Amino acid sequence: MFKKILIANRGEIALRIQRACRELGIKAVIVYSEADREAMYVKLADEAVCIGPAQSAHSYLSMPAIISAAEVTDAEAIHPGYGFLSENADFAERVERSGFVFIGPTPASIRIMGDKVAAKQAMIRSGVPCVPGSEGALPEDPKEILRIARTIGYPVIVKAAGGGGGRGMRVVHTEAALLHAVQTTSAEAQAAFGNPLLYMEKFLEQPRHVEIQVLADGLRNAVWLGERDCSMQRRHQKIIEEAPAPGIARRLIERIGDRCVAACKKIGYRGAGTFEFLYQDGEFYFIEMNTRVQVEHPVTEMVTGIDIVQMQIRIAAGEKLPFTQRQIQMRGHAIECRINAEDPYKFVPSPGRINLWHAPGGPGVRVDSHAYTHYFVPPNYDSMIGKLITHGDTREQALARMRTALSEMVVEGINTNIALHRELLVDAKFVEGGTNIHYLERWLGQHKR
Ligand code: ADP
Repeated sequence: MFKKILIANRGEIALRIQRACRELGIKAVIVYSEADREAMYVKLADEAVCIGPAQSAHSYLSMPAIISAAEVTDAEAIHPGYGFLSENADFAERVERSGFVFIGPTPASIRIMGDKVAAKQAMIRSGVPCVPGSEGALPEDPKEILRIARTIGYPVIVKAAGGGGGRGMRVVHTEAALLHAVQTTSAEAQAAFGNPLLYMEKFLEQPRHVEIQVLADGLRNAVWLGERDCSMQRRHQKIIEEAPAPGIARRLIERIGDRCVAACKKIGYRGAGTFEFLYQDGEFYFIEMNTRVQVEHPVTEMVTGIDIVQMQIRIAAGEKLPFTQRQIQMRGHAIECRINAEDPYKFVPSPGRINLWHAPGGPGVRVDSHAYTHYFVPPNYDSMIGKLITHGDTREQALARMRTALSEMVVEGINTNIALHRELLVDAKFVEGGTNIHYLERWLGQHKR
């Protein structure tokens, strides 16, 4: 096992990884920008290295700064967390070439999954069901593009092969609008991702977002750890996640989970990963794979009892998966609410000093957050300041515990979306379960204030 790991991230996930290191008896090196100097998790780390100014481009995205920090502290491995450099194949490669272990998949796996056209083709070859669409990237010939769309049937969605973060896609409802949409999206994709290539899919109108968590050791062993329903989204940003997905037949999910495991084995996948699907009318359609730990991983940890971050580290150290699929047992139901520093209804970010932070507790309640009373939320990064997770024997119990937890939680000095979560947790349709990915935005439209 490693003696020392460098954590190339910030905020709650940096703290989460630090906790995993502590439990495994590994020393943690935190890197931080000038904006994060005062953060408690930085002070609590075994070692901390300032890697640059507040702007991510010169700190959390600076490969040389991070690799030098690993060199001066004698770290053996680098955990990238999520966001920042976590899905950057060049970074993974540079880490390994500099003699460190990258805690994640091989650069080749990251590269394939980062190219959505290549990823989809790999999935089709592995028998994972995909959204019907173009075979590979769209050709140049406008006549061909029109023909492909006609075969798929409108509405279609035009997506950038190099896209991510919910950007670089456009829904097209009529043939008249198609070619213009292709042109604009391609230009945007070139500007944003340096890759003009596009592909096309059937646009599903009422899907849910259901994803499968996998772990693979790169030694031919792979398992899936159940699914998560992340349909409560605004602008493609998830805000509530849960496991398991309410109301979907176990047999159907097991079939998909097994396909994901088969795909991992086929592509020689290593580490933690997530297969994202749209689910509609009893069918699953693969949309993309994330080659890193996800924000919402705690709900899976709560129902399986498996520490996903520790497993990432153990796999990177060369250990075999310590369990088989049959040994994985799901227990109860878990829900996560992302706590964001923002206006609960207008979504304007609300950085600044937290005057009072009072976290909830009690049976089945977990808080993953780096925030505390007097913590200053810097304006430079994502607005998520923590995650509130509850677990219960049933979904009803997990919901009841979440309502209690949200009622106990107090954050003063900045705005947060806690008030929104309190309302959603008593919304009849959400409580019933199974809302689709448009539900939250429609709800927000009807509850304007
Ligand atoms: P990104 O990497 O940018 O998140 P995804 O391919 O995961 O891109 O798609 C992001 C979101 O866009 C999905 O969660 C879904 O809401 C919507 N979306 C993508 N493809 C389709 C589709 N074929 N039909 C309907 N919605 C889609």
